[in-house]
Amino acid sequence: MKHSHVARRGLMLILSSPSGAGKSTLARLLLEQNPDIYLSVSVTTRGRRPSEVEGVHYHFHSRDRFERMRDAGDLLEHAEVHGNFYGTPREPVENALASGRDVLFDIDYQGAEQLYAKMREDIVGVFILPPSAAELKTRLERRAEDASGVIEKRLKNARTEIAHWQDYNYVLVNEDLNSTFANLRNILLAERLRRERQVGLAPVIARLDEELATLTD
Ligand code: 5GP
Repeated sequence: MKHSHVARRGLMLILSSPSGAGKSTLARLLLEQNPDIYLSVSVTTRGRRPSEVEGVHYHFHSRDRFERMRDAGDLLEHAEVHGNFYGTPREPVENALASGRDVLFDIDYQGAEQLYAKMREDIVGVFILPPSAAELKTRLERRAEDASGVIEKRLKNARTEIAHWQDYNYVLVNEDLNSTFANLRNILLAERLRRERQVGLAPVIARLDEELATLTD
């Protein structure tokens, strides 16, 4: 047996930010480096962007189907964002956590609030800020997948989203993608090592204590 291996409970890593702050890129990089992390794929009533794939970026559902899922209790949290509905399917998340996998969520502050209220000790909430309003606008325009009215709406909503920065455990200002990503990785690493997440520590401590007792008796 490898003595250094200690069993750990899965954690829920929530990334929130105003849209255009770089959250999706950070999530993608994290998943590339940690294929063991499960990405929670949300359901949404928003129309699919040309670059998006059903079941990969979202499950694109009709309003009707969304409401049926919500009313059946199949969503862990749900919210209206920019005039569309979004929600987190409950079952895949619960399965992943039960099998000890960490789960990554790309959700807004309303969803984060609901998850914090239900499962606070399992949550690591990270809020990502753009370095400036001008940079946020440029990033939204560069994406060029949304109409200009949509971009305006998202900029307006950025203020509401940013007002909730204090709800989160960590805040990262995404000035430079590489260093923000390094910080995100370090947060995950430290959170994985938290004493209360290392549920298999007791036997390791007991063995160490026994060994030390033999050496010192
Ligand atoms: P977008 O339409 O740009 O993909 O996402 C808009 C916003 O909705 C983003 O801030 C994203 O984090 C949030 N969002 C995506 N999925 C969910 C979800 O399942 N629940 C909640 N509460 N927000 C979500």
